[in-house]
Amino acid sequence: MGDALKSEGQEMLVPMSAPDITDREREAVAAVLNSERLSIGPYVEAFERSIAEYVGAEHAIAVNSGTTGLHLCVRAAGVADGDWVITTPFSFVASANVMLYERAVPIFVDVDPQTGNLDPELVRSAAADLAAGGERAKRWLPRRGGASGPLKALLSVDVFGQPADYESLRSVADEHGLALIEDSCEALGAAYRGVAAGKLGDMAVFAFYPNKQITTGEGGVIVCDDGEAAALMRSLRNQGRAPGDRWLEHTLLGYNYRMDEMSAALGWAQMARIEELLAKRAQVARWYADRLVAIEGVEAPDAAETTTAMSWFVYVVRFAAELDRDLVAQRLHAAGIPSRPYFAPIHLQPYFRERFGYQPGDFPVVEDLGRRSLALPFSSVMTEGQVALVCEKLAGVLAAL
Ligand SMILES: *Cc1c(COP(=O)(O)O)cnc(C)c1O
Repeated sequence: MGDALKSEGQEMLVPMSAPDITDREREAVAAVLNSERLSIGPYVEAFERSIAEYVGAEHAIAVNSGTTGLHLCVRAAGVADGDWVITTPFSFVASANVMLYERAVPIFVDVDPQTGNLDPELVRSAAADLAAGGERAKRWLPRRGGASGPLKALLSVDVFGQPADYESLRSVADEHGLALIEDSCEALGAAYRGVAAGKLGDMAVFAFYPNKQITTGEGGVIVCDDGEAAALMRSLRNQGRAPGDRWLEHTLLGYNYRMDEMSAALGWAQMARIEELLAKRAQVARWYADRLVAIEGVEAPDAAETTTAMSWFVYVVRFAAELDRDLVAQRLHAAGIPSRPYFAPIHLQPYFRERFGYQPGDFPVVEDLGRRSLALPFSSVMTEGQVALVCEKLAGVLAAL
């Protein structure tokens, strides 16, 4: 406790991220603690309604993390043993793990170098080849552990608060009869061609870990328009109880993925401030962009033309290929500035290499982004002075390389 600004003994001058909590949130959580319902109560319902209304979705299902939300989407899509699911290796590891939970096979496809989101043309070729099967399918499969199929779903990630190219992804999904799952855990508040993130897939998930746009401590919400899928996911979240089941009756194999009332109250209070929180994050991003133009060798993040609303999650810069990103991070740390490499490619995580035989070089764009990208300190409570300090230290580090 109390060491939030210390990293390996080193005093940090600014935090990597910080939640934005006011008395409104404190009072909502206290109200739960002063009541007798700490779980399965009115705040979960109120929080679900606030998300459904904000996104314009028919159904919202609160769960205890973004990961468990994605797992329920995979179950609702009917993905099971050996099924193929096209997805991205440039993501937080949870978006691919949820396939492994069901013994399905994530089929990785490389990404667009500008946005870091799935390259829709590669997805189109992969889906056609996988549907054809045989030798054509083989070029997309991992070296081992991938033989089976069929192709069941497409799980796309809205990386760093920017939706993927859903016009193309939707047409591929429709052509091949695939469920389209949208991992929007980093993109609450974003829009693609005027459509809200969360409305772009058949089902979508938002996540609320403390560094996300809004927080519940731990938590997530699934949104979808399909009543049957929503009912299934509500049941799976609650130990497989079907509507009408008594307390110890379980129609399906389910889980305890419920969100508690304290978390829901916190999320509900945050949703009342969502526009303010997103606007503050956008302001911090502008402060960064204004200063980074003057620093050579660093590229500020940029939105695609289809991104009609960017929802800033993290602030990830890219270094010129000749710069040593890890050395920059190390020197920044020594200067009191925390940073994080974003993302470490999923296919190169030890258990993915072990299970599927992936090797460096398999997804060149993802690996290049993974090597050159660095997340700088970012939150809605960051001040212009803190942004200036980070940029000043970064410029100093780069000048001294
Ligand atoms: C945050 C995040 C998740 C879910 O994370 P939890 O910690 O389980 O809430 C899933 N996918 C992506 C891309 C994320 O950034």
